[in-house]
Amino acid sequence: MNEFYLKAKLFFGPQAVEHLGSLKCSNVLVVTDGFLQESGMVNKMTQYLPAGTHVTVYSNVKPDPSQELVDAGVEMIFDVKPDLVIAFGGGSCIDATKAILYFAGEKGMERPYFLAIPTTAGTGSEVTNFAVITRGTTKVALIDDALAPDGALLDASFTRSVPPKITADTGMDVLTHALEAYVSNKATTFTDAMAVKALRIVFEDLPVVFHDGDAMRARGRMAEASCVAGIAFTNAGLGINHSLAHALGGRFHVAHGRLNAILLPYVMRFHMAEAKYREPYDRLAHELGMADADELLRRVIDLRHELGIENTLADLGTIDPAAFEEHVGDMAEAASHDRCTPTNPRPVSKQDLVNLYRDAYNG
Ligand code: NAD
Repeated sequence: MNEFYLKAKLFFGPQAVEHLGSLKCSNVLVVTDGFLQESGMVNKMTQYLPAGTHVTVYSNVKPDPSQELVDAGVEMIFDVKPDLVIAFGGGSCIDATKAILYFAGEKGMERPYFLAIPTTAGTGSEVTNFAVITRGTTKVALIDDALAPDGALLDASFTRSVPPKITADTGMDVLTHALEAYVSNKATTFTDAMAVKALRIVFEDLPVVFHDGDAMRARGRMAEASCVAGIAFTNAGLGINHSLAHALGGRFHVAHGRLNAILLPYVMRFHMAEAKYREPYDRLAHELGMADADELLRRVIDLRHELGIENTLADLGTIDPAAFEEHVGDMAEAASHDRCTPTNPRPVSKQDLVNLYRDAYNG
């Protein structure tokens, strides 16, 4: 039996932020990061809350949020006792909020209404039952329906300030979500439809927003594509591209979307080397109006190049070759146990993962 599930009610489009004025709340907690607080974006958002609402802002979130940050957030939320929690930021802020609410719930806190407002077009975390938390040097994907927000508000005006490099990284994350959801061994007609739509938008609009951050129609479409891809993968699951990226990101702290983008052609080639696993890539290429899987692979590489993303992990210049070799076995071990690996279309051994890491490092 298959299932398709969407918990969050979606509010989207220009001025979607006005929805905040209709919420019934008196004591709001906003979980965000230092940049969004200092840049004034948090205030721009909270001014739409009903007059007289008490607002507490917790702006300690850092990229790749740690378990320690989450634990501190759990203590804080018991003090604040909010009736509405807003996660405001990229995937790091939304995931940190999910984990804070999850662990506070385990300690007996009654769950307040949880609204996610993404400020990047990338993770789709506003609609997923995933949260990625870093424990030591390992990124751990928590997966539970209880993590998913109750509402998601997509207002692309909050993504306007995202600089080109982060626009590229997060946009390639959308592409990777949709592609891995499509070829997943849990894909269905419903998730395929969403993955294909998200990919059409990414190929068309990601180059536009990369070159012109003020292209608001394209920003809006990318915000929707991110969310649509999130709905696809929260139902279909992901694959080893994400497993490899999680283990690498936990160890070497490179932006998640950039790692996905660098790894993707290597992972695609690994799958396409066997006819059985190449088939969904050919099918996807046809749905996107391309000739075959080889053209799809070329288009992914061309897009990556247009966005200025490196071809190999070595090209990043931040991962020392000796440190990479020292940890490649541990990272492959962690990737083999990652929660994204069971839905990968092709079964993988630890040695396959080591080989993929080395391919992606050396090119
Ligand atoms: P991020 O949240 O880590 O943010 C990256 C940077 O962008 C930060 O410095 C942040 O301050 C900045 N930023 C955010 N919004 C901005 C804006 N509007 N203008 C200017 N700068 C802005 O990046 P992300 O890619 O959105 O999230 C990555 C995290 O999400 C990783 O930890 C990844 O593992 C996780 N993730 C989660 C899911 C999920 O379903 N839960 C899916 C994919 C990835």
